[in-house]
Amino acid sequence: MKKSRHGDMYAPRNQLSSRFGTKTSSRRESPKSEGCSPRATFEYTPSKIKARIKPNKNVAPPVASSTGNVRLNSSRANHTASRKLAAIQTSSHIHQLLYIYNIHSRTPCQPDRGRKCGMKVAVIGAGILGASVAYRLAEGGARVTLVERGEPGGGASAASFAWVNANEKKPRAYFGLNYAGLREHYRLREEFGGAPWLHPGGNLVWSADARGLRERVERLRGWGYAAETVGEERARELEPEVRSPGVAAAYFPEEAWVDVPRLVRELVERARAAGAEVRTGSPVVGIEAEVSAVRLAGGERVAVDAVVNAAGPDADRVAGMAGSPLPLAPRRGLLVRLEVRGAPLRRVLHAPEVNLRPDGAGYLIAHHESVDRRLGGKDERRLAVELLERARGILPVPEARVSGVRVGTRPVPADGYPSVGAAPGIPGYYEAVTHSGVTLGPLLGRLLACEILGGEVHPLAAPYRPGRLREQRMTEHPIRNAKEGG
Ligand SMILES: Cc1cc2nc3c(=O)[nH]c(=O)nc-3n(C[C@H](O)[C@H](O)[C@H](O)COP(=O)(O)OP(=O)(O)OC[C@H]3O[C@@H](n4cnc5c(N)ncnc54)[C@H](O)[C@@H]3O)c2cc1C
Repeated sequence: MKKSRHGDMYAPRNQLSSRFGTKTSSRRESPKSEGCSPRATFEYTPSKIKARIKPNKNVAPPVASSTGNVRLNSSRANHTASRKLAAIQTSSHIHQLLYIYNIHSRTPCQPDRGRKCGMKVAVIGAGILGASVAYRLAEGGARVTLVERGEPGGGASAASFAWVNANEKKPRAYFGLNYAGLREHYRLREEFGGAPWLHPGGNLVWSADARGLRERVERLRGWGYAAETVGEERARELEPEVRSPGVAAAYFPEEAWVDVPRLVRELVERARAAGAEVRTGSPVVGIEAEVSAVRLAGGERVAVDAVVNAAGPDADRVAGMAGSPLPLAPRRGLLVRLEVRGAPLRRVLHAPEVNLRPDGAGYLIAHHESVDRRLGGKDERRLAVELLERARGILPVPEARVSGVRVGTRPVPADGYPSVGAAPGIPGYYEAVTHSGVTLGPLLGRLLACEILGGEVHPLAAPYRPGRLREQRMTEHPIRNAKEGG
């Protein structure tokens, strides 16, 4: 098994290297990276938007600009969004309007190919966040170098329960971000004409706290999320093989799980096809003054106009290289891959003692926070067997065996929320660091690309600016000299 600071790869899933090779260096010329012509856009204030709220098939998706205004793309009308807009008639609903557009429209906030065409950007880290932002930047006309110290998707992204959801996300703004993140996966499926990595089917939850679960369902329904409490019969219909633990149940039909390594592979390949250079086996060890270049472990210097720190649980080290300390509160978690006969489970399942999801034919993933809390010494194997026993408690899988164990580290900014966007005081330095990165990766990648290329901070991402995490008193000239880091 491959070891890293943040855990072991599942042996059976460690197939990325054969696909990507090691130490690759290529920049394919792509027709998409040529002819960077700006799309026709118009600035709209909230009052102008309001004036356009009518069931008109020509209404186009709006995009918030940093001025608080909204930029409309005249070329892309969206009929579904238009119908929904018809119901919204007051200015107090402008945020709701933006939200609806952003989760239903095909083309909100596309990286603008006209604005910063040819801008050189290094994206550090090829997990789901880095792969996503690299793809969107390259698609938008930037000259992207995606730099990964190991193999794409081999970090936290390969050690994720990978449940795509906005289920217990609070407060409302953070719920909104995660719900948009969930919808972005479906949107990506439309955009790519398929998404074999996305496994819809919802999430069945059992909880001993019947009242808490009922309240959660009511709150989520009130926020427009698909949620229902279910009885024994309906739960059996959804998961016929699962033995009910005899407690309250709820179903969240829009939720899904994602085969993250497969999605990362797709995004990296698309970034490459859009002209990005992908450097694997290349740790970044320094960021030079004024974010003028990144330095690689072998001594090579890559000149850049901007850097995106998407280094996951190592984002604090990379932030240190830029002279802008990022406080992280990383949390470790144990994922156990179980080999089973057949397909005893159809969807994500949360039971009081164990969370389970399918992981391709003949495999399940088991996880539980109560086990994560006990992670410490070298007892991972024992905890894995405990998760196996818990799974056997609700599934008829006597033959199941542990086929892989992985400890991953969640990249959690100190206050628990994402750090996305430009960091203050260091022009050209951006961050894309978050827990729930599987849910949020595709959305945040696109929104960050819009910020870098178009200078626009999307309202969904606006509460999560890196500046809030920085100490008030920053080093006077944090990037005057190149800084080394690990
Ligand atoms: C146990 C567990 C369960 C989880 N469950 C869920 C879930 O159900 N749903 C959900 O949405 N999220 C979940 N998450 C969180 C989610 O997996 C992460 O938020 C997400 O994978 C982070 O992706 P990333 O791209 O930021 O980081 P990573 O995938 O870690 O990618 C960062 C990359 O940067 C590279 N790197 C680091 N430093 C350097 C450097 N100096 N130079 C070059 N490259 C560098 C690393 O090698 C790595 O490949 C879970 C996480 C864990 C650990």
